[in-house]
Amino acid sequence: MADILTIGEILVEVMAKEVGQRFDETGEFVGPFASGAPAIFIDQAAKTGSTAGIIAKIGNDAFGELNYRKLEQDGVDVSFIQETPLKSTGVAFVTYKEDGDRDFIFHIQDSASGLIGPDDIKKEDFVDCNYFHVMGTSLFSEGIRQAVKKAIDCCKETGTKVSFDPNMRKELLQDPIMKEFLEYVLNNCDIFLPGGDELELLLGTNDEEKAVAHLLEKGVQYVIVKNGSKGCRAYCKEASFTVESLKVVEVDPTGAGDCFAGTFISCMNQGIGFRQSVMYANTAGALAVTKKGPMEGNTHMEEIKGFTK
Ligand code: ATP
Ligand code: MG
Repeated sequence: MADILTIGEILVEVMAKEVGQRFDETGEFVGPFASGAPAIFIDQAAKTGSTAGIIAKIGNDAFGELNYRKLEQDGVDVSFIQETPLKSTGVAFVTYKEDGDRDFIFHIQDSASGLIGPDDIKKEDFVDCNYFHVMGTSLFSEGIRQAVKKAIDCCKETGTKVSFDPNMRKELLQDPIMKEFLEYVLNNCDIFLPGGDELELLLGTNDEEKAVAHLLEKGVQYVIVKNGSKGCRAYCKEASFTVESLKVVEVDPTGAGDCFAGTFISCMNQGIGFRQSVMYANTAGALAVTKKGPMEGNTHMEEIKGFTK
């Protein structure tokens, strides 16, 4: 039983050691680190004190074991993770460009995560669940899209709120099936947590106020636009406000958005008010970028409170 559930890829990340390093030249890498956007999210939701689980698949291998152990240690309910002997655990490689951008090579579709399907969704798991979080990165196969659709149907019956972080690259919208599905999740979510450019990509306008007003009108309850080192802007029917970012030294931006979302949903789940939940999430996102490794910058509530003014 978990108050917060998510679904999707668990993988290890292997990271370039030097900025400017390329994939088509031999170089040194560090890792493996526990990773996967929904895994980072759920790890943070658990670390900040909520009961939290991830519907996922890992291989019967050491990369799966590394992730399982890390999530379990951080308090995630790992009972929703299935081990399969049929495929190995997913892997992502990442390099860092001089301009702050990143390049990825993913081995996910053909990994254990690619076996997630609608049979993995059980209505009883949603009965006592308050929030179901969907990430754009996880919608890479028809099986997982059908699983998400079934889960959203369950949420409608059980009153579980759906939160959505598109967390996507613009190339994804070239695929009409993907575009349609992202729009379907957007139309069925209660909480929307895009990055600044994702709002524009999905809604086709750079007028943020107008795009958000349209979403709130359609029934989305909360929208938070994440703007990296510029903090975030939060909206609901009654209020809108900006939270400036904490001044930190950015070591590795990977996972900041997922850590932000995990903190926000966890705080809301614990009955903390909207504005305060956004403030804590903003702090957690900043702390996340100060550590190398996707999940290594996740933090406990006491630390977040200590850094929040
Ligand atoms: P990604 O999908 O790459 O994880 P994202 O676009 O979902 O990223 P970001 O906007 O990069 O999310 O980061 C989420 C939040 O974390 C920001 O809104 C901000 O509160 C905080 N944050 C991120 N980067 C920094 C930074 N360099 N300094 C301070 N705070 C940051
Ligand atoms: Mg993101």
